[in-house]
Amino acid sequence: MIERIREDTLNLMTIAGLSGHENQVRKYIKEELKKIGLKPIFDKFGNTTVTFPGTSPSVMLFTHMDQLGLIVRKIEDDGFLKFERVGGVPEKILPGQAVSAISKSGKPLSGIIGIKSHHATQPEEKYQVSSYRDLYIDLGMGSAAEVRSNGIDIGSPVVYKPSAEVIADDKIIGTSVDDRAGCAVLLEVARQLNSRSNGPEVNIVFTVQEEFNLRGALPVAQKIKPEIAIQIDLLLASDTPEMRDFGEIKLGKGPGLSMFSFHGRGTLNGVIPHPVLVDHFEQTASNESINLQKSAHIGALTDLSYVQLVEDGVASIDVGFPIRYSHTAQEMCDLKDLVGLAKLLISALNSLPENINLIRD
Ligand SMILES: [Zn+2]
Repeated sequence: MIERIREDTLNLMTIAGLSGHENQVRKYIKEELKKIGLKPIFDKFGNTTVTFPGTSPSVMLFTHMDQLGLIVRKIEDDGFLKFERVGGVPEKILPGQAVSAISKSGKPLSGIIGIKSHHATQPEEKYQVSSYRDLYIDLGMGSAAEVRSNGIDIGSPVVYKPSAEVIADDKIIGTSVDDRAGCAVLLEVARQLNSRSNGPEVNIVFTVQEEFNLRGALPVAQKIKPEIAIQIDLLLASDTPEMRDFGEIKLGKGPGLSMFSFHGRGTLNGVIPHPVLVDHFEQTASNESINLQKSAHIGALTDLSYVQLVEDGVASIDVGFPIRYSHTAQEMCDLKDLVGLAKLLISALNSLPENINLIRD
């Protein structure tokens, strides 16, 4: 199991798939599902679903395949690209960042977000953060015509230059750990469910456009109408010096549950998990001797915030793995947490009682 999750995570991290431009990620996932012997179905957004028929309650288990990044807003006459942000890209890490602009044919073109030479930087500029509006991408091309002839146009996707590496004791570092690691975990869950003979109906969904507007999963949820939704994404690790006050999640100490998420800056949404599902995951972790961590904080949320409100409501829970340096080009997770998460999910699904009571009366 660990080798498969490692390989899928590393492979998926090196594939560019900005929100709304997930084609190449979907292609990889589709091929892996076919190797398992599964027939995924797709919708107009690109959500990718495999269904394991079974008894009540029906479950939607999902994770997003897209990543955050940039999109080309304007091509200057001298070949520099102005851009917009797609998703929560931290502006303070952008100057000097290696990027890949993706051409119309899918070819990644390497470049850098320009930064004033250190030798020319004035003392008062050293601690300033530039607005992305003042920044530009340099692909090393000298004219707008050259940029366009290489398949880059207004609206072309740009991502952090993809990288993936195993360091130290099975830590994984690089681009888009959020949420290609989640995709690798759900591919493994799909492999395991494929050999089961009974259990609840499970729909594994690889969703799109989560980093864009958190709603890419909605059409598929409206179609499936699940009774239970389990969403897989990162949990913010709080074991580095600048994060210690934030919570108790530690890298390498196991998967975890989000007990509260909320995002107030215009979104006004979040998830408070269904108590029956919290109990079920706690019991499962205890039975399997998996250490289960918990987070509760504002500032982050997932597409589950919208999925939970589908039809007459969906019993929902965010389950995840610790990550450091979220939304940077060098996110870090621990492979052991991914394996623990896969085991937790498989066991939780296999032990889900058919008569589980989700109505709070
Ligand atoms: Zn994510």
